[in-house]
Amino acid sequence: MLQAVGVEATEVRTPEQLDSVDALVMPGGESTTMSMLLEFNELLAPLATRLAGGIAVFGTCAGMILLSREIIDGRPDQHAFGAIDLRVRRNGFGRQIDSFEIDLDVCGLDAPYPAVFIRAPIVEEAGPDVEVLASVDGRPVLCRQGRTLVAAFHPELSGDGRLHTFFVERCL
Ligand code: GLN
Repeated sequence: MLQAVGVEATEVRTPEQLDSVDALVMPGGESTTMSMLLEFNELLAPLATRLAGGIAVFGTCAGMILLSREIIDGRPDQHAFGAIDLRVRRNGFGRQIDSFEIDLDVCGLDAPYPAVFIRAPIVEEAGPDVEVLASVDGRPVLCRQGRTLVAAFHPELSGDGRLHTFFVERCL
């Protein structure tokens, strides 16, 4: 998706690779496992340092969970980077079987965005500096705080590059 919107993209699996990028996507997946793998690959501290330094980051689903200030229904040893002032509940939108797709009204986009939710987190609390860009049933699902953008859904799955463009143009 990043290549499709005109930026160079590479995978980050080591601290050296992390040093080499200008911005970061923290993807969906399984946030407890991702937290363990970040620790195992000695990326926790370097990533915390880059985030504290204000690197632009787009967290989607599990990535959004990892970037939040507080995680409910996580593992006690799961890391929360606190790059955005959110309290999130893992799997708050339900289990795999409750996955859904919805046309989302997004602030700043002139047509609805097709959003795919898979075991998505629910935002239980958003701090005063968090800008809510889209909601489902009154629950924030797309939020921004400074250079941190997070989506509870999977913007890489719908083939619609507008949110990646938004990230590249507005958060970098
Ligand atoms: N529920 C998953 C977690 O806790 C996130 C699911 C996803 O990224 N689609 O990490």
